[in-house]
Amino acid sequence: MRALFEAAHTPLMETTEIQVDGYEKVLRCRDRGSGLHALIAVHDTTLGPALGGMRMLPYSSEDEALFDVLRLAEGMTYKSACAETGLGGGKSVNIGIADLEIVRTETKWVTGLSKDSGSSGNPSPYTAHGVLVGLHALAQEVWGSPELRGKHVLIQGVGAVGGRLAQLLKELGARITICDINEGKVEELKRTQGYESVADARHLEVACDIYAPCARGAGLNDQTIPRLKCKAIGGAANNQLLELRHAQALKERGILYAPDFVINAGGIINVAVELFPGGYSEAVSLKKIENIAVNLRRVFEIARQDGVTTHDAALRLAHQRLDAGKRAKRA
Ligand code: NAD
Repeated sequence: MRALFEAAHTPLMETTEIQVDGYEKVLRCRDRGSGLHALIAVHDTTLGPALGGMRMLPYSSEDEALFDVLRLAEGMTYKSACAETGLGGGKSVNIGIADLEIVRTETKWVTGLSKDSGSSGNPSPYTAHGVLVGLHALAQEVWGSPELRGKHVLIQGVGAVGGRLAQLLKELGARITICDINEGKVEELKRTQGYESVADARHLEVACDIYAPCARGAGLNDQTIPRLKCKAIGGAANNQLLELRHAQALKERGILYAPDFVINAGGIINVAVELFPGGYSEAVSLKKIENIAVNLRRVFEIARQDGVTTHDAALRLAHQRLDAGKRAKRA
């Protein structure tokens, strides 16, 4: 009773600003009544309003959540700049909030809800489709043909995106090996889809053509890169490189890396279309997702011409578009 009384009389949500260099705004939001503890980071709005996902995780500390939200928000700026969605970059991370449909009752600035509610639907299948589009471009660069039939793809994380990506690749005749910390899910997919599998802890031992990280970020680091047995990397996970220098380590190993924020833009493209003047159209979205291949080809070209890593090349592409946006704003 006392808890209910207190909840009803708790002041409105407390919002405090955290100063972070290079970010337009970073906010801490605390609401005692609901227990909400969230961080919102707006990295850059040169090209439009900041749009990014909400991540819910049981972070062990606010510092850990801040580290995550800052990296994710910056990545969204580059993702949207490369994908030309007309959006800026931002993200929020949350510890304890129930349901985005509830959030939508309080603010119209929520996208990617169910198609029944007039929204663009779950972005994950579009992200998976975009990764597939990108893998064709990756294959073209490595093997001189976009063909994925017969290619051996190792997918880490068979959740909303990785699971769908596996299906799409299977339809194209690729050989698929999966791993996930959720062993039950792996067993079920092995049984129903006939994929090969490997224990997550041993997945880097698998020799494959393409490694598709679709679980969590920072998986490409000093410990993992020397063990990789693939020729190319392209997957959905955000912030796959632990540090920028790991792009150089991949280059030195002769592994072609499709920068995450270019290849995993399918979901943000789909929700961005919801905000286009004519409203959501799947046909418009799918057409724009095809551009992921164009952007990747451009990234590979910049990397070759300038002798830089593909990650640096993708940053150059994003900054070219941000600079053009800044010039257009000033004009
Ligand atoms: P998800 O939670 O549905 O799936 C993630 C899967 O990875 C789960 O099956 C989980 O068990 C597994 N996993 C988690 N940690 C793991 C680990 N350490 N090792 C192995 N498996 C692990 O998430 P999702 O929506 O499929 O997204 C996957 C990744 O792609 C995330 O990094 C996400 O930020 C990124 N991403 C997703 C979208 C989207 O539209 N959903 C868009 C862009 C980027």
